[in-house]
Amino acid sequence: MRGYTGKLLRINLSNRRSQVEDIPEQLMKDFLGGRGLAVKYLYSELKPGVDALGPDNKLLFMMGPLGATTAMSVSRIAVVTKSPITGCIAKSIAGGNFGAFLKFAGFDGVILEGKAEKPTYIHIDGDGVHMLDADEIWGLDTEETQMKLRQMHGNSTKTICIGPAGEKLVRYAIVISELRCGGRTGVGTVMGAKNLKAIAVNSSGPLGVYDSQQFKSLAREQIEGLRTSPRRIQMTDFGTSYLTLGFEKMGIFPVKNFQEGHLEGVEKISDEAFAKIKVGNNGCYGCMTKCGQERRVTEGPYAGAFSEGPDYESIWSLGGNWANTNLGSIIAADSLCDKLGMDTISAGSAVGFACELFERGIITKKDTDGLDLTWGNHGDMLKLVEKIGRREGFGELLGEGTKRAAEHIGKGAEAYAMHVKGLEIPAYEPRAVKGYGLMFATSNIGANHMYGRPREELAGKVDRFADEGKGKDIARNQIAQAVEDSVVQCSFTPATGLTPESRAKLLVAATGFNEFSDPAYLDLIGERILCLERSFNVRDGFSRKDDTLPARMLTEPLKNAGPATGQVVRKLDTLLDEYYDALGYSPQGIPTTEKLGQIGLDWVIEDIKGFVK
Ligand code: SF4
Repeated sequence: MRGYTGKLLRINLSNRRSQVEDIPEQLMKDFLGGRGLAVKYLYSELKPGVDALGPDNKLLFMMGPLGATTAMSVSRIAVVTKSPITGCIAKSIAGGNFGAFLKFAGFDGVILEGKAEKPTYIHIDGDGVHMLDADEIWGLDTEETQMKLRQMHGNSTKTICIGPAGEKLVRYAIVISELRCGGRTGVGTVMGAKNLKAIAVNSSGPLGVYDSQQFKSLAREQIEGLRTSPRRIQMTDFGTSYLTLGFEKMGIFPVKNFQEGHLEGVEKISDEAFAKIKVGNNGCYGCMTKCGQERRVTEGPYAGAFSEGPDYESIWSLGGNWANTNLGSIIAADSLCDKLGMDTISAGSAVGFACELFERGIITKKDTDGLDLTWGNHGDMLKLVEKIGRREGFGELLGEGTKRAAEHIGKGAEAYAMHVKGLEIPAYEPRAVKGYGLMFATSNIGANHMYGRPREELAGKVDRFADEGKGKDIARNQIAQAVEDSVVQCSFTPATGLTPESRAKLLVAATGFNEFSDPAYLDLIGERILCLERSFNVRDGFSRKDDTLPARMLTEPLKNAGPATGQVVRKLDTLLDEYYDALGYSPQGIPTTEKLGQIGLDWVIEDIKGFVK
C-alpha cells in the first residue's frame, strides 16, 4: 500500500458487470488523485456531445492519496461527470465517510457506466460487488435510505445515495453520505438517470502508507497544530455561519436575488443566533474540526426541525436571498433540501428567482399553484422547495434550473436568472468582490464558490473593487483548488492547517513518490487538470462567449450594499484577457497547442486544435 490502493472499480449498470482495473502509476503522478484522476478518465472515455442524462455519460467517485489515512481532513471524495445543468464538466467534492470506506474496500475510485434497467443499488463487501434491487429504498429520502441500508447490511454500512430529487431528475440533485453532500452541478441527477439509488460499503481499515513512521510523525504534528489553532476552534464552534454578518456589512452577501446588499434584521440569522440552538457537531471521516453544526429549532412554527447546517452558503440561499430572517425556516428548508437530495444553493436561487418574477408581475399565483411568493414569506417558499424536490406543479419547471426555467417563461425572465453556464451563482456578490466575478465567469463547471476563491481580495491584500489586475490571482487560485480537490483535502484551511510544504511531505510519506515533494510539480498538476477541464468543455463548443456573468452584474450598479454600493463589474473583458494570458489560452479562452505541449497534454491537441482562433 502506498497511499493509493492502485485499483479502480468499473461497474456497467446496463449489463450488471463489474471489473477491477489497475491505475497506472504514471497517471497517479500526472493527475494526483480525486478530481484530477477522475477528470483524466472522464475526458478520455467520454465522446463530445454525450447526453449528460443518457447511458453514455459516466459518473466517477475518486479518492486521493491521503484519504483514509490518519491525516486530518483529507478523506473527502471527488465526484466527476458531465453536468446535466451546464452541459460542462462537473465536479463536486463530497464529505461524509463513504470515500474512506470505499478505499478500505480496496478501491481508489469507482466508474459507473450505462444505465440500470430498473432501480438498483450497489453493495460492496468482502464477498465482492453486488447489484441489487432498490425497490425497498426507491422513493425514500436520503436519511431513510441510509437508515434502511444499515438495517439491511449492518450498522457499520457506509453509504452514498440520492433522494427523491435525484430520482425525479431535478437538474441540481446531490449525492449525500451521512449528512455531508456532494452538492453542486447535478452529480446526483446523473446517478438518478442511471437508476442508481445508492452505493453501500461494508469494509474496515486501516490503510497502509509508504513510510508509516514518517507519516505518523507528520500526522501527529498536524493534529497538534490543529488542537490549539484559534481558527480551527472557530470553525468547530460556528462552522461557516460566522461569515454572514461580516459579509453583509461588506456588501458581499446578496439579498433578494442579487438586487441589493443589505438584509434588514440580518442579526436574527447571525452565528450567535444559530449557536443558541446548537446541539452538537458533525463532520467528515478523519476530521477533528467537525464543522457541521447540528441545530434543532426549539420554538415557533418550525419547532423540532433539525439540520446539520446550514453553512454560510445555505444561510444565504434559504435566508438572505429570500429576504428571510426566520431562523427556524432556514433550518427547516436546509433539512428539506438534504432529505430530498438537492443543492441548497440552486434550489434557494430558483426560489429567489421566482420571487423576483412574482414581484415584477412576470408570474402570478396562477403560475405558482397559488403560492404567495412575496419576499420573506418563508412558509410558501418551503412549500415551493418541496414541490421542486418532488417535481410537482410549478416545482417541475424550477427543477430545471433558473436558466431553462427563464427560457420557458420568457417575458424578460432571463434577466433575473442569476447563473453562469446554467449553474446558479452562490452567496458572493461579484460586484462587491470583482475577483469572484472573474472566478465565476471562467469556472469550467459554472458558478461555483469552490473553484479558486479570490483569497487575496477577501484578505484585503488586493483592492476588491479594482476593475483590473486580477487575472493572475484567479488563475493561480483555480490551480491551487484543483490540487486541493485532487488530494482530496478539505478546502477550509483552518480544518487542515496544511501549507503547500507540509502537504508535500505528507504526500511523499504516503506514496513514496518524490516528485510530490516539489510544490511546483503539484502546481503543474493543478494547471494540467484545469486545462483538461477546459478542453473537455471546448470539445463541446464552449469558449469565451460562455465565460460571462448575468447582465445585472455587468450593467446594474449594486444597491444598498454599504461600501460596495454603486459597484459594477465594468471590465470583464479586460479581466478575461488577463486570465487567459496567465494560463496560456487564446483570446477565445481555448488552450493553445503550445500550452498543451508544455504541460503534458499533447494528446489533447488534435481534439481541440480546430477550435483555437
Ligand atoms: S472541516 Fe468540515 S467540511 Fe472540512 S473535512 Fe471537516 S467536517 Fe468535512
